[in-house]
Order: sequence, then C-alpha cells, then structure tokens
Amino acid sequence: MSEHKLDWAKRWLEKPIRHYWGGEFNSGNSSQKFQSSNPATEENLTEIPEGSAVDVDAAVAAAESGFKNPAWRNISRRERARVLRQMGELVRKHQAELATLEALSNGKTYKEAFYDDMPDSADVFDYYAGWTDKFYGESCPVDGSFVNFTQRDPIGVCGLIVPWNFPLLLANWKIAPALAMGNTVVVKPAPFTSLSLIRFAELIHEAKILPPGVFNVVLGGATAGEAISRHSRIGKVSFTGSTVVGRRIVEGSAGSNLKGVTLELGGKSPNIIFDDIADLEGTVQRSFGSMFSHKGEKCSEPTRFFLHEKIYNRFLESLIPKVDAVICGEQFDPKSQQGAQCHKAQFEKILSYIEIGKSEGAKLLAGGERTGKKGYFVRPTVFGEVSQKMRIAQEEIFGPVVSCIPFRTEEEVVAMANDTGYGLAAGVFTADVSRAHRVAQALEAGMVFVNHYGCYDFASPFGGMKESGWGREMAIHSLESYTRLKSIWIKY
Ligand code: NAD
Repeated sequence: MSEHKLDWAKRWLEKPIRHYWGGEFNSGNSSQKFQSSNPATEENLTEIPEGSAVDVDAAVAAAESGFKNPAWRNISRRERARVLRQMGELVRKHQAELATLEALSNGKTYKEAFYDDMPDSADVFDYYAGWTDKFYGESCPVDGSFVNFTQRDPIGVCGLIVPWNFPLLLANWKIAPALAMGNTVVVKPAPFTSLSLIRFAELIHEAKILPPGVFNVVLGGATAGEAISRHSRIGKVSFTGSTVVGRRIVEGSAGSNLKGVTLELGGKSPNIIFDDIADLEGTVQRSFGSMFSHKGEKCSEPTRFFLHEKIYNRFLESLIPKVDAVICGEQFDPKSQQGAQCHKAQFEKILSYIEIGKSEGAKLLAGGERTGKKGYFVRPTVFGEVSQKMRIAQEEIFGPVVSCIPFRTEEEVVAMANDTGYGLAAGVFTADVSRAHRVAQALEAGMVFVNHYGCYDFASPFGGMKESGWGREMAIHSLESYTRLKSIWIKY
C-alpha cells in the first residue's frame, strides 16, 4: 500500500472546489455552499458549491453538445475503448491521492479506500472498454419479405446520481458503461463526499482524453439531484441511494420526459446460518468479516443474522469477543479497523436506532454506544433475541448494527427472511446441497450468496428486488440500460 497523501490533500484543499462542465471548471450560479468536514475530527475540510437548477441546465447543455460533437459521436469503438482504459489508468496512477480524499471525506479507513474502493474504481473502465465492440444486435426471424434486425443506440445525456458510501467507485460503476455505449454524462456526487470525483475530473481534464461536454460534474445535494431527475433533456437517470429518494427520482421521471430510470436502493439483508454447517468457527469468521466492513455503510451488508437455535449460543459466544476487539479510529491510523460514520445526521440516526433496539427489548450483546468525544465513531453493535416485528429488524440503519434472530425450521426462516420490504442480498450457510438450492430459490433477493457472503464481480448482475431497486448494474445489464433498442425492417 502506498503511503497516504495527507500533506498533498491539505494543499489541494486550499483551492476552491468547483463544478465541471463543457471542459471547464465553473463556480456555478448559486452562492450556497455545503461545508465538507472530516467525520473523524469534525473539522472543516472545504466548501462544496450547492448546484442549482440553472447549473444543471448549463451542464446538460454542455453534455448535449458533447453528444453531438463528431469528436465523440464518430469516435471508433476501439478508440472509445482506449479512452476508457486511460480513465482507469488515471485512477491507478493517482490511487493514493484519491484514496486519501475518499478516506478524509467519508471517514472509512485509508486501507479500505486504497484496497477496496480504488482498484475496482479503475478496473471497471477496463471491463467496459472490452464491451465497446461486443454488444451485438439480433437478426429477428420475422415472416414476409423483410429483413429485421435490432441495434442498440446510445441514449444521449445520462444523469448519474451517487451516494456517499463508495463515492468514486459507485460513480465509476455508472460512468464506465454509460461512456462505453457512447453517451455523455452529468454526474452528481453526494455533497459530503465530492472530493474524489472532482479530483478525478481534474485528472481527466489535464489528460485531455475526452472532448468537452462528454464528462460533466454538478456538485450539490437534493436541489441539483431533483433538477437532474426532472430535466426533460436527460434521457436516463441512474441513481444509487435511499429508497425514499429513489421514489422522488421516479416521480421526477414521470413528471418530465419519462426518462429511463435505474435504481440501486437500500437493503436489510438476511444471512441464514443452519445448524448443519461443518465449520462453525470458519462461518463465524466469514460472517464477522462481512458484518461491519466500511462501518456498516454498505447497502448489501448482512444486517439480520438468522441463527438456528441449536448453534445460536455457540455462534454468539465466538462472535462477540471478535466484535468487542474491533479498533475504531481515525482513517489514517494503520491500527484502525473501523472508521467514523460519514456524517453527523447518519451518526445520530444510528445511535437513535440503537436506543430503539434497547427500548424494543432486544438484548444488547456488543457495542451500543459512540466511542470517543470527537468524531462520529460508533462501536460495532450486536443485538440478540431480536424479533421479526422490531423496527431494528425491519428498517435500514446503514451503520454497524446487526440483529440476531433465532429460528427452528427452514420454512420459518425463509418466511422471516422475506418478510421485509427490501430484497437486495441474502446469505445462506449450510452443508446440505439440496437445502442450499431450495433456500436460494425461495429467497426474495437480487443476489443470493451460499456459504460465502458478499461476492461481487463486474461480470455478474448487481442490484435488488422489491424496494431495493429497479434494474441491475454490472455486466451486460448496465450496458442495456444505457442504450435504446431500435428495430429496423428492410423490405426485399
Ligand atoms: P440519499 O438517497 O440520501 O442520497 C443519494 C444521492 O441522491 C446523493 O447524491 C444525494 O445528494 C441525492 N439526492 C438527495 N435528495 C435528492 C432528491 N430529492 N432528488 C435527487 N437526488 C437527491 O442516499 P445516501 O444517504 O447518500 O446513501 C445511502 C443509501 O444508499 C442507503 O439507503 C443505501 O442502502 C443506498 N445504497 C444502495 C446501493 C445499492 O447498490 N443498492 C449502494 C450504495 C448505497
């Protein structure tokens, strides 16, 4: 791991942070600013301009002209692939800088930012570069004297709205497939964590690898986000964030041009551990590894542990000392295993859910409080004897809080696992192959993990059912969503 670049970041933060559109940095039309701070120290880092509807309009106009520009529109697929690979290379070359900015503004440890976020933030460009000339249409077996075939056209301007938990990674999950298909983009990061994306914009700008208007960034929060979702000249919005805001995006689309919408939303994912597992200690270890990573601010994190009653006590006896030993601390301290929650409102929300859990009668087994007097640190928290009806078993907390629920039968546990509005991910641990298949079929989740929670790969669809989302990211599924399908009939 390269050393962090804190001294560089301090100097970089002295410059004003600006939007980026039409190939230029821009202060925007609004004088409103958002104070960006370090969640570990609560100290101010810099001010982020709050983008207005006028700013979004200017960025969309720039993206429209970028889309019409022959330098982008007529670029060969091979050349487009080369450009994408260069974007990935920029992330790789500046990995330590970008990881430093990510850790500073999000609170996650530098290790997590460097090893988890950045490699995939770069590699996703390579993956989609490979697709630029491989997305074939179909030749359709129609009747009559016709040749009928389909093709995939780019949509035009795509609005990409990103949350604060994996700021650059989730932005690049969207930017790479959108550009691979020949679109132009207006990206809006979350105001708390705009630094890595705006640094990436600087790197792209300095490298001069994209024609003006192809890649645009509008900073800000709900005002800019609403303006994107309601903009009639944006053809598609890809959104990752909360289910509440996801509904607003759909309303924005319905109230404007019925733009295509992809939603990656919240989760309350179950992880079911049966009593037939061969290696209890290994299962505890794997479960512990997935429970609190990125301080629980991870949409697919397993937050409901269903433990068979025969192993319930043994599982917890092994788990709790591991949880108690977690070192919470400042991002750049190499000893830190869990950083600060991303912002004050999130920190307070997590603490309030812990109080709700206690008042609902759940048994507090680990954590349950903030740690330190400064910074938004919450001890990793485990509740036992949680019942299905408790709010901590139903509502997304988005922090390091796990609920453990005992069960007796397969039928009962599948019903409980599915008994929530969400359907993002689910895990099953069992040594019985038939049971693994049965339960995987029955679970209402976009992603099911058997005997290893939390797999992900660019080649596999990512996303949720029910109130966890619409559509999928990754693989060919992202590409489809950044294109319009056209059917062409030729009479012969
Ligand atoms: P959020 O919904 O508050 O914000 C997400 C983005 O939407 C931010 O950029 C925000 O500024 C913007 N926004 C806010 N109000 C808006 C509005 N009215 N119109 C348009 N945009 C608006 O979510 P968050 O708090 O940043 O992120 C946490 C949530 O994201 C959690 O619910 C989590 O589960 C979810 N998430 C889901 C996935 C997934 O892939 N399913 C991945 C990561 C996070």
